[in-house]
Amino acid sequence: MRTPLVVANWKMHGTCAEARTLALGVREGLQGVEGVEVVLCPPFTALAAVGGVLAGSRLGLGAQDAHWEAAGAFTGAVSPAMLVELGCRVVILGHSERRQHFGERDEMINQKVRAALAHGLTPILCVGEREEERERGATFAVVETQLRGGLAGLGAAEVARVVLAYEPVWAIGTGRNATPEQAVEVHAFLRGLLGEAASKEVAQAARILYGGSVKPDNVGPLIAEPEIDGGLVGGASLRAPEFAAIVRTVGAAGGGRP
Ligand code: PEP
Repeated sequence: MRTPLVVANWKMHGTCAEARTLALGVREGLQGVEGVEVVLCPPFTALAAVGGVLAGSRLGLGAQDAHWEAAGAFTGAVSPAMLVELGCRVVILGHSERRQHFGERDEMINQKVRAALAHGLTPILCVGEREEERERGATFAVVETQLRGGLAGLGAAEVARVVLAYEPVWAIGTGRNATPEQAVEVHAFLRGLLGEAASKEVAQAARILYGGSVKPDNVGPLIAEPEIDGGLVGGASLRAPEFAAIVRTVGAAGGGRP
């Protein structure tokens, strides 16, 4: 059974004070919610502050990126060990904004996935096609390349520890979410690839999140699909009531997926 997961990606938003207030709002807004795991991913600078707010709750802490080395001359970078020290359990890797604005390629993302796993973090590996790629019918080829590249060289036991996020680039921050049908066909395809990369059992147990303009009013039909194991939420995660409403809907959709 797969427990649904909702991950908040705050991107480059929030001073420590703002992040603390938002985390408090989420914590309070989610009192009593069950059947869903929740992870907040603030900017690096707010990890300690948010970790303090989440202490003693069931909400997890995550980061938005990590370097692949444990330490070294990598100005501006943050290592997996540093994240673990701050209480992170999860790290988002290969987000389309990292690919687009920071030139991250699959080989680099693969190094990051390996490093995260080696430090006991759960990587959330993001894949997704651009609009132009969907229009020319390349969606499956694009996500297959990203998935195979990101997981290259991993054994089945390591693949089993990875969470996938299907995030069509044209849906991120645009207000245009993928339809449940569009998401389901890609999720099912990715699950099939996981079966090849690891095993049928690993594929069946893997959580595949949908991300791209998830809001309280569109999450219901998405999470009603057994193929969709939760959401990676950007914009709507910056407002505690909206994010809490999304999590409540996911929790109410019913615990484990088959
Ligand atoms: C994201 O940043 O991963 C994302 C899905 O953003 P938004 O929800 O704003 O589309």
